[in-house]
Amino acid sequence: MSSAEQVKKINVLGAGVIGLTTALKLQEKGGYAVTILAEVLPSDPKTVKYTSLWAGAHHVSHADGEPTQEKIDRETFEEFWKLSEPGGAAEKCFLRLDQTEYYDTIRDDKKPDPLSWMPEFKYVEPDLLPKAPKIAYGVNFKTVTIDTPVYCNYLLSRFLAAGGQIVRAHVWDIKQVIEGGPSIFTGASTPQPPDAIIVCTGLGSRFLGGIEDKKCFPMRGQICMLRAPWIRFGRTYSTKAGLWTYIIPRRSGDVVIGGTKLDDDWYPAARPETAEDILKRAFELCPELAPPEVRATREPTIEDVKSVLISNGCGLRPAREGGIRLDVVWHELKDRKIPVVSNYGHGGMGFQSSWGTASIAVELLEGAFREA
Ligand SMILES: Cc1cc2nc3c(=O)[nH]c(=O)nc-3n(C[C@H](O)[C@H](O)[C@H](O)COP(=O)(O)OP(=O)(O)OC[C@H]3O[C@@H](n4cnc5c(N)ncnc54)[C@H](O)[C@@H]3O)c2cc1C
Repeated sequence: MSSAEQVKKINVLGAGVIGLTTALKLQEKGGYAVTILAEVLPSDPKTVKYTSLWAGAHHVSHADGEPTQEKIDRETFEEFWKLSEPGGAAEKCFLRLDQTEYYDTIRDDKKPDPLSWMPEFKYVEPDLLPKAPKIAYGVNFKTVTIDTPVYCNYLLSRFLAAGGQIVRAHVWDIKQVIEGGPSIFTGASTPQPPDAIIVCTGLGSRFLGGIEDKKCFPMRGQICMLRAPWIRFGRTYSTKAGLWTYIIPRRSGDVVIGGTKLDDDWYPAARPETAEDILKRAFELCPELAPPEVRATREPTIEDVKSVLISNGCGLRPAREGGIRLDVVWHELKDRKIPVVSNYGHGGMGFQSSWGTASIAVELLEGAFREA
């Protein structure tokens, strides 16, 4: 058998951050010819059908000490830290910065803070905590923010440069792919059935035939985008009641402020009253959002923040009851049986868990081939 024949054909469904990272990891490993099939691609205009372009995004793990999730997040952080290396090819996708997390409630002080593994981690001295909003506890460390449209396109171009292929397709049912592979979506009549499929269809996994995972639901997040290149630090404020306000500056000088987390809210456009609320909370948490020339001469107001508002938007985080689905199921069709790996349901942490979950998906795939 020639080496070309030994190469396994893998179809990855979905081109969000999860599909792109998983496809790239596999393609660069060697021994695989990976094709991504996706309805929406990262260079398309923003749509609620593609969450990855709406994310802030930063890496602030929500693992809260849960060992598997922490391992996933740590692996991803290490990769981001390497990619954001000064002078590196992906440097411009990231901003390395000083991050402060504030809370209205003191955490259990007998346990180390769950973020204590982050670089240069320290507790904020109680007498240095801001007076407003009501802050009881704070931690500070180094992390990265990600310019998500730039980063997703970086992943796609690296995947293509490694020999990967991409086909735009809306897949109605995975049976279409099991039998025909990517070629049948391009008008070709000759099928190219794959050796395996990896499902990275985010919220679409609720509707994709053969998967139809009713545990998937949207966790809607609304944001405002500001032009405020003077902001070079990240800041979050979380309350026990579930209110959550964040400031995420990007390398470009744009700053994403949020946020909201509304389960099962499918509304696909920004609500004006929510935008007002986000601006109010963000300004209270970070008065530095007002332009420096204003702050130098007078007390800033929320109108000063509105003067640098570029746009409002919202995305539907692909949440899932029970968390991320990572498993492999064999599907049979006619005389063929192939492994279908699932890697979806990342909710509000798709970027910060992308490399770790891609590694697990690859392990699942290779385990299935070994058992075959
Ligand atoms: C406001 C906001 C802020 C966020 N902030 C952060 C943050 O700071 N850090 C972080 O880690 N995460 C953050 N997230 C979460 C993050 O954006 C998501 O977890 C992540 O984008 C999910 O990626 P995905 O690839 O699973 O899904 P998506 O990006 O939605 O991609 C899904 C892909 O599947 C394709 N698809 C679906 N169904 C089909 C079908 N039937 N046929 C063909 N193609 C199909 C789509 O076209 C698309 O290509 C945030 C999200 C929002 C909304």
